[in-house]
Amino acid sequence: MNQVPTIRLNNGTLMPQLGYGVWQVPDAEAAQAVGTALETGYRSIDTASIYGNEAGTGKAIAASGLPREELFVTTKLWNGPEERWGRDNVLREFDASLSKLNLDHVDLYLIHWPRPVREDYLAIWKVFEEIAESGRAKAVGVSNFLPAQLERLRAESPLVPAVNQVELHPLFAQAELRALHASMGIATEAWSPLGQGKELLTRPAVTAVAEKHGRSAAQVVLRWHLQHGTIAIPKSVTPARIRENLDVFGFELDAADMAALDALESGRRIGPDPAVFDV
Ligand code: NAD
Repeated sequence: MNQVPTIRLNNGTLMPQLGYGVWQVPDAEAAQAVGTALETGYRSIDTASIYGNEAGTGKAIAASGLPREELFVTTKLWNGPEERWGRDNVLREFDASLSKLNLDHVDLYLIHWPRPVREDYLAIWKVFEEIAESGRAKAVGVSNFLPAQLERLRAESPLVPAVNQVELHPLFAQAELRALHASMGIATEAWSPLGQGKELLTRPAVTAVAEKHGRSAAQVVLRWHLQHGTIAIPKSVTPARIRENLDVFGFELDAADMAALDALESGRRIGPDPAVFDV
């Protein structure tokens, strides 16, 4: 079942285009959920320090017996609660994440939120340059960064983020940001790719395309991501859905299907606005 294509990141690292996200999976359940995902054939796992389930994720990775080089593990720096983040905080948090995951490196390390009011993301990025240099993260990137913040990194750092992980689904498709990423060599990764399983999956435009292909609404939305070239990391703890979300390589959306899903753009986010989000 593992026919997942890879995206070549700007440093040459290969990242599976479809992965498994674990936000809101309690640590005690993460080992089982991630274990099911790995057995099903997912090879990319997206966690974060703030999700509190790096330890459970690490247990599943160890128990899977899969060679480390076949896995792609992402985690994220939670740059709070201090006012501003310096080198010591970042390195301490990174070490803590590796230790909870029980790994000597991750494949991708992301700044979770830019928190622009603190004006420290550039200083944090400088530490990410060091982490990338050390090889303890094969690639480094950002999450929830807006164009102005990406431009600032470009002006002040030789290191281009490999990935920007942002809210992205047919109701909030981020066409302009995707185009900016493409021009900068940054891969676009979609969080809440299924719109958190809410109204998106019941929209008539989505269910009509699903019916046409004899597939589920979630499957056609995941095809939409794959065919737009974005990386998607759907979450589920239900084994049947975990399987369903990976079983998206036996059909294709045509141009009319893609246009019908593109037309769902609402300009409205489900999650927080990165321009103001802070803790
Ligand atoms: P999602 O869009 O993946 O939706 C998940 C929900 O959709 C599930 O809880 C379930 O209710 C439903 N669902 C899943 N599969 C389904 C199926 N086949 N059929 C019907 N319903 C289904 O939302 P998400 O969890 O918010 O996002 C996915 C991942 O993105 C997270 O787990 C996390 O790893 C990442 N994420 C990152 C950030 C960030 O700030 N970087 C923010 C949110 C999420």
